[in-house]
Amino acid sequence: MNDYYAVLGVSREASAEEIKRAYRKLALKYHPDRNPGDKEAEERFKQINEAYAVLSDPEKRAHYDRYGTAGPGGGGTNLGDLFDLFEQVFGFRTPSGRAPRGEDLEVSLELELADLLEDCEKELQYERLVPCEACRGQGGRRQACRSCGGRGVLEQVQRTFFGSMVAQVPCGTCRGQGYVLAESCATCRGRGRVRRKERISVAVPAGIEENQLLRVPGYGNLGPGGPGDLFVRPKVRPHPQLRRQGADLIYELRLGLAQAALGVRVQVPGLRGEVPLEVPPGTGEGEVFELEGEGLPRPGSRQRGRLRVVTRLEVPRNLSKKARDLLRQYAQEVGEEVAPEGWWERVKRVFRG
Ligand SMILES: [Zn+2]
Ligand SMILES: [Zn+2]
Repeated sequence: MNDYYAVLGVSREASAEEIKRAYRKLALKYHPDRNPGDKEAEERFKQINEAYAVLSDPEKRAHYDRYGTAGPGGGGTNLGDLFDLFEQVFGFRTPSGRAPRGEDLEVSLELELADLLEDCEKELQYERLVPCEACRGQGGRRQACRSCGGRGVLEQVQRTFFGSMVAQVPCGTCRGQGYVLAESCATCRGRGRVRRKERISVAVPAGIEENQLLRVPGYGNLGPGGPGDLFVRPKVRPHPQLRRQGADLIYELRLGLAQAALGVRVQVPGLRGEVPLEVPPGTGEGEVFELEGEGLPRPGSRQRGRLRVVTRLEVPRNLSKKARDLLRQYAQEVGEEVAPEGWWERVKRVFRG
């Protein structure tokens, strides 16, 4: 059991003011930001805060004086709690007290249309920032900033309507960090972090939409306060024959003149293999046949969308003499007026001459 009075270097009769003064002096001296990587200083910092948490609270102090223990809810030893206490006393947080999380990252994941048919696992490679091993994420040899005395903030008197007020502004010399680099790490050039290639497996739910980001917690950049998240944006490569519209798939079926007039049995290239379709006689341009259940799964349900087949009428060009004759015969049969054989060549000759 630590002697809290000895830790703070005060007598058992010390006043609340004396205890606070002692704490302020010691907490600044042993703050982890001023002693990066120094485990002993960190341990002292914990002890100082634990002692102060008890001795600054009249009830806890009375309990400690009587029984030699902090009593229920005694001094915390969690570094995060200690930074909270530090903030209460000093009115500001130091960089490690704030301990920013790493940044979130967004990467895209290329998928084939067929990947969307079922839930699947996809491998993804990307780069993220991780602490530099050469300098243990410190960026080099640190030294407390002289401008702000390692506090990261400067006090500034501001004149307001109500009179002068003391405001705390981030120190410009160390950009609020409390330290400057005496020597930059050669590996990370003082940044404290380096790029590292990562390879992870991502679960992709069936039928995912391109605007649906997949969140992978903890796989973003690593910062002093922990990692950010990774957001994976699915990107579906265009399919040579099928177009996607939500859970539906669109296929454009080209029909020749005779096919449209007489009807035809075709095989439509679906994602799960060919699907037979009967095109009835007299089918026109832009008609739609819907094949239920041949589309993509609707997210969050077992239902599938449709395969929508849209007809595109192909008007024949560059026909052989025989085909032209047959068409003329057909026109005569149905009473359609058409231009005589060889007429277009004559028209073109007239215009050119
Ligand atoms: Zn500074
Ligand atoms: Zn480094």
